[in-house]
Amino acid sequence: MEETIFDKIIAGDTQADIVFQNDHVVAFRDINPQAPVHVLVVPRTRMKSIAESTSHSPEVMGHIIHGIAETARTLELEENGYRVVFNTGRDAMQTVPYIHAHILAGRKLGWPPG
Ligand code: 5GP
Repeated sequence: MEETIFDKIIAGDTQADIVFQNDHVVAFRDINPQAPVHVLVVPRTRMKSIAESTSHSPEVMGHIIHGIAETARTLELEENGYRVVFNTGRDAMQTVPYIHAHILAGRKLGWPPG
């Protein structure tokens, strides 16, 4: 798998505004925010997308979900709520081939997404 910008952020080779991290995930602010709060949660275990998650222990996805919840708690998003998005593949417009969850919050989010 090609090295991505998220590999470099996790390795500390590229600067990012990290808001939460633990042994399993790194969460940092999106460079092109689509909401007042827009954070990406990336596992330290490398995979391309949710589609590839079946090649890994389910624990990896569990750690991602816990990382999302802990990031949201750290940013005090629980009271008003937040949206979690995993863009997966071409039609979903995934642009970085390293699995990541978007956390979007800080305003009313429309549904369905455009
Ligand atoms: P995707 O479209 O793959 O679901 O989302 C990739 C996200 O990564 C986009 O929202 C984009 O703004 C963000 N992104 C791309 N390059 C960088 C970067 O160098 N730093 C940060 N913090 N975010 C990035």
